[in-house]
Amino acid sequence: MTGTILPAAILFLFLNGATGYAQKAAKGRIEKPTKKIYNPPYPNKPVKPFRIIGNIYYVGETNYTSFLITTPQGNILLDTMTDPEAPAIRKGVEELGFHLKDIKILLQTHAHVDHVGGLAKLKELTGAKVYVMAQDESVLADGGRSDFRSDGRELWKPVRADQTLHDGEKVQLGGVTMVAHLTPGHTKGCTAWSTEVKENGRKYNVLFICSNRLNDGVPLIGNKKFPGIAEAYALGFKTLKRLPCDVFLASHAYMFNMEEKLKRMQEGAQPNPFIDPQGCRDYIADYEHEYLYQLQEERAGGKSAGTAPAGR
Ligand SMILES: [Zn+2]
Repeated sequence: MTGTILPAAILFLFLNGATGYAQKAAKGRIEKPTKKIYNPPYPNKPVKPFRIIGNIYYVGETNYTSFLITTPQGNILLDTMTDPEAPAIRKGVEELGFHLKDIKILLQTHAHVDHVGGLAKLKELTGAKVYVMAQDESVLADGGRSDFRSDGRELWKPVRADQTLHDGEKVQLGGVTMVAHLTPGHTKGCTAWSTEVKENGRKYNVLFICSNRLNDGVPLIGNKKFPGIAEAYALGFKTLKRLPCDVFLASHAYMFNMEEKLKRMQEGAQPNPFIDPQGCRDYIADYEHEYLYQLQEERAGGKSAGTAPAGR
């Protein structure tokens, strides 16, 4: 859909099909969300790299994430934090006993500086192939200049992708399959990734959520830089809700309570605290609630009230 302003009835019908909150909206107002889902400034401190589950390792920090997915034929890295933080990824990979040169594929959740700022450096260090969702390709390649929330400045070293992806496409290496799911809104090509892992003889569905945050000051209605942004977010929530999710990870560690789960893991908690299907459902519900509230306020003539600080 390309119209900048949809008639309210059509928009309502569209949302009603996609969300539980919209059904509540039929009866009355959507309550202002009370749950804090972002508490800026969230510190980004080093984390000792660790194995999350199966063949998935954490090489990110306390806020920005980076995941190493190992296979017998080389490894995959998902997200690279910012340029100054890229050396921490190298350190983490080596501390875990892996080699940077074994990284063959570099995947992204979305083209924002805290997830792709380190990509140019990692590409140079590893020689790996860069894959990106088609809708984020041009933004990645111009260093963020053409991002709909940007003022035209270059925000990271531009990277030309080796391969573009579309919704549902698979990236395969050494018997591991990562499926790319388009969950747009936060960026046009925001990508959730799903895969399967085995631990203690059981299979688990892993979901790496991109981000469903509203961007600060970016309107959902009448957005000339991103017409259809409201529908894009709705599509993202609809997609996330149909994906199986036992292990829930995301592009920011606070989104899946990484520090708290890690602490429980270190204390020997069983089963693995990162197996958290309820946490996954809660994440989707909380972010959808925030989105629907914002949409309601804009439709009522209120101001754009997105809360994510720039660059997140
Ligand atoms: Zn972001």
